[in-house]
Amino acid sequence: MLTSIKSINFVVQKSHLRFHLNYKLHNTPNLLIIIYIFFSYTKMGLFSLTQEIAMDLGTANTVIICNDKIVVDQPSIVAIDNRTQKLEAIGSKAYQMRGKTNQNISVIRPLRDGVIADFNAAELMIRGLIKMIPNKSHLFTPSLRMVVGIPSGSTPVEMRAVRDSAEHAGGRDVYMIPEPMAAALGIGIDVEAPEGNMVVDIGGGTTEIAVISLGGICTDRSIRIAGDEFTADIMDYMFRQHNIKVGETMAENIKKNVGSALIDLGDEAPDEFIVQGPNRITSLPMEVPVSYQEIAHALDKSISKIEAAILAALEDTPPEIYADLVNKGIYLAGGGALLKGLAKRLTDKIQIQFHVAEDPLRAVARGTGIALKNVDNFRFLLR
Ligand code: ADP
Ligand code: MG
Repeated sequence: MLTSIKSINFVVQKSHLRFHLNYKLHNTPNLLIIIYIFFSYTKMGLFSLTQEIAMDLGTANTVIICNDKIVVDQPSIVAIDNRTQKLEAIGSKAYQMRGKTNQNISVIRPLRDGVIADFNAAELMIRGLIKMIPNKSHLFTPSLRMVVGIPSGSTPVEMRAVRDSAEHAGGRDVYMIPEPMAAALGIGIDVEAPEGNMVVDIGGGTTEIAVISLGGICTDRSIRIAGDEFTADIMDYMFRQHNIKVGETMAENIKKNVGSALIDLGDEAPDEFIVQGPNRITSLPMEVPVSYQEIAHALDKSISKIEAAILAALEDTPPEIYADLVNKGIYLAGGGALLKGLAKRLTDKIQIQFHVAEDPLRAVARGTGIALKNVDNFRFLLR
């Protein structure tokens, strides 16, 4: 009895082995296909455990790059329900709500002057913007390897705030890069060369001026005069000069259409821009045509402050590097670089050639994308 059971067992084991061998031999192509499908899904992200993203967390716009492509480009704005503290809208949807809210909804720009001003809103925003990355066919939430741009003059506390927000939004492996360094990379400068380069990044909240050489920042200045200040100057000018009340969105439109750094733009002069709004005294509707010369006038003071900051940075620049700047010129990045006539005005005033970066609104984002690919090589990335 015992022997028969043993023999049956042996037969079963043998047949199992044979079946196994047969299966392996006959189904090798199938197995290969299964392995192939598994790995291609892994590549697609279905099983991937880390996702790599680069983020330019700007005061005005946040741009996210994933797999070398810009996947999110949205205003850095959130709308929050005051009663529940829940996110109501984000990015361009929240931008449209600006100036049109009721007491239940607040529209917040979490990064006001280049730093996180509202921690809770910043976290909601970063989380929401990451969720906007399209085509995420993940079974599991992947952990994120992130490179985030931060203003060069950030204090340790401010850096901690950015890191915490990024980590709470799912970042496991967070690197930070000073924004001017990212801008230089995005412009295509060889930042590690023994050669000086100056980048002036005029964003929403701050203008950052930095001289870069040998993979580090030699001189930097940051002033809180940038796009937002230009917008405020225009609101103020319209109010005082034309007695018309304009909101932030309208003022920004004026800036983009007829904003100018020069009183004479020659061939590049734009047509007058029609501004509509209430009269500040009578509250009756009015229409005012505005010329670029007027706006050049309104922006003159703020632009002079940027000029002074650039001159101060040049004063601190060592002579060898200064010579490089004179030879190659200075690069302008950020949305403010799009102001008509700005490069010419600065070139005339400072007597060094100013170049506007290609697609200046996205130069920092492109640079963070390059940094993401070189996290192991670039020593200037902060952990
Ligand atoms: P940040 O890095 O702080 O997010 P950006 O580099 O995205 O800032 O620049 C945003 C600023 O650029 C805003 O103040 C916006 O009004 C301004 N801007 C965008 N386009 C233009 C334009 N064509 N002319 C002048 N300013 C512009
Ligand atoms: Mg920026």
